[in-house]
Amino acid sequence: MRDGFSREIEYLRFSITERCNFFCRYCRTRDVCACDTDAGELTKQDVFRIISAFKKLGIKKLRLTGGEPFLRNDVFDIIDFAYDLGIQNINVTTNGFLHDDCIQRIIESRLSGVNISLDTLDRQKYRELTGVDGFDVVVNAIQTLSRFKRVKLNAVLLKTINFDEVEDLILFAKDNNAVIRFIELMPIGVANRIFEREFVSTQDVLKRFKHFQRIEDREKSVAEYYYIKDFDSVVGFINAVSDHFCSRCNKVRVSAKGILYNCLFDEDGLDLKEHFGSEDVLAERIKQFVMKKKFERSATTNSMMFKIGG
Ligand code: SF4
Ligand code: SF4
Repeated sequence: MRDGFSREIEYLRFSITERCNFFCRYCRTRDVCACDTDAGELTKQDVFRIISAFKKLGIKKLRLTGGEPFLRNDVFDIIDFAYDLGIQNINVTTNGFLHDDCIQRIIESRLSGVNISLDTLDRQKYRELTGVDGFDVVVNAIQTLSRFKRVKLNAVLLKTINFDEVEDLILFAKDNNAVIRFIELMPIGVANRIFEREFVSTQDVLKRFKHFQRIEDREKSVAEYYYIKDFDSVVGFINAVSDHFCSRCNKVRVSAKGILYNCLFDEDGLDLKEHFGSEDVLAERIKQFVMKKKFERSATTNSMMFKIGG
């Protein structure tokens, strides 16, 4: 499927739940999200319907996000369904607060990879940042999963919280056979409140290294990868603010309530539930809506990351 600027849209990011057991300071604070219910959440059959329609439209890559996707007990059915349909590149983004049974099921699943958020290696800071004393559980998940699956660590750069840990995070990833990606803080939802104080750019990070080299086209990804000679490591950077990478955008998003958004920064979407009558009609409506995808994102948005799927 192509949008109105001939960009091939082949990547669906599907937020399958708004629920989360964490309260990360840049995503979900208790004042904007006091309750944690599944009210309005798509049923498993609805999720299947949407994935089928997107598959018909040529989607090749699926990422399940949230909220915390593993809070849905049918997440493995969704993975199996998509894989059996022919989508073989399926990934999940999780906070990594996973018990051993879930880790085992991930290992046995047909997931291609798992992205785990890890912003700090300091237990106390971790608790303050996420609202959960979960550092050891998450580290255990990273260490176990990285022996069986491709694991990427996502660290949102925050000036007063983890900018001084960049080197330690790189070494931690290296020791655990994972690739780390540093993500620029985006002015989205509650992150707008801390954006000015906490924003750090990729360039600010690169200045800390003596020798580094850009790796071209390592993979079709929004991340730019660099070989950092100082640590003999490959590190990813997602320049979500300093380089919008919109001109090569290949993705759209569906929220846990079934709203299709053409961009992370869009506040208006298409309610897919209104077109569930037939799969052909649903696919056609999606196609028409994607044609309206804007070339560039808006400057900021009040949408909440946990609703639209970061
Ligand atoms: S960033 Fe992820 S883990 Fe943290 S509150 Fe948001 S959805 Fe939950
Ligand atoms: S900001 Fe929007 S248009 Fe730009 S890359 Fe991200 S999702 Fe695509």
